[in-house]
Amino acid sequence: MLQFHVYPGGKRRIVTFSYDDGSKNDPRLVALFNKYGVKGTFHINSRRFAEMSEEDKKDYVARYDRHEVACHTVNHGWLTRMPASSLINEVMDDRRTLETYTGYPVVGMSYPSGDYDDRVIAALSACGIVYSRTTKATFNFGFPDNWLAWHPTCHHRDAEKPVAEFLARLDSEWYRPLLYIWGHSHEFKTEEDWERQENLVASLAGLEQVWYATNIEIYNYIEATRRVLVSADERILHNPSALDVWVERDKKEVFVIPAGETVTLP
Ligand SMILES: [Zn+2]
Repeated sequence: MLQFHVYPGGKRRIVTFSYDDGSKNDPRLVALFNKYGVKGTFHINSRRFAEMSEEDKKDYVARYDRHEVACHTVNHGWLTRMPASSLINEVMDDRRTLETYTGYPVVGMSYPSGDYDDRVIAALSACGIVYSRTTKATFNFGFPDNWLAWHPTCHHRDAEKPVAEFLARLDSEWYRPLLYIWGHSHEFKTEEDWERQENLVASLAGLEQVWYATNIEIYNYIEATRRVLVSADERILHNPSALDVWVERDKKEVFVIPAGETVTLP
């Protein structure tokens, strides 16, 4: 029996952060993430760009260099209350602006005010968005059934218990590996707020069991595992993606299937 529950670097756990709106507090939060070597995704409303110079726009996006920049629509409206035309413009115009400065496809998103329904999901899919985060905490550690309704583990203010549970199970046989914390950096108003956030990030930093990833890196890796072609006798594996994929056999051996290669297991 083969199972894809080993992550890049042979890790068994994943930690990701996700912050919305692109507030002026983001550079401090990015600096905090960089200090502790964790990774996150920043969902940005590009209406912020309207009054910036070209240089400022470049600088604004460059601050997220080691992280992912993702869509949060241009104006942060209620997507379920928009005609299709507004919905599509809000997403595509945000993508176009952000992509001008990131230089990569901006295909991740989070829902403004957590507002979505089936019609919104269908529209996002047509706009090339591959995942979108909700604001519904699961207090659990699994992957989403639908990437376009990706429910996080919890908001940072509710993270104490889930983090304790995640840390307590670091070395156990446990197949719900993903701790996903979201929030807004503008919620950090006092030095005590920042201290609480630093303690949270520090408690999750530098763990050898953990793959620290952005939201899109998680999406890309899980999708890569789903594309691996496996022979009927489970000996020959072909990995057509551009990412190395790790696979576990019979709960004891772990093999790497390098990007683009076909491997015959011993
Ligand atoms: Zn927002």
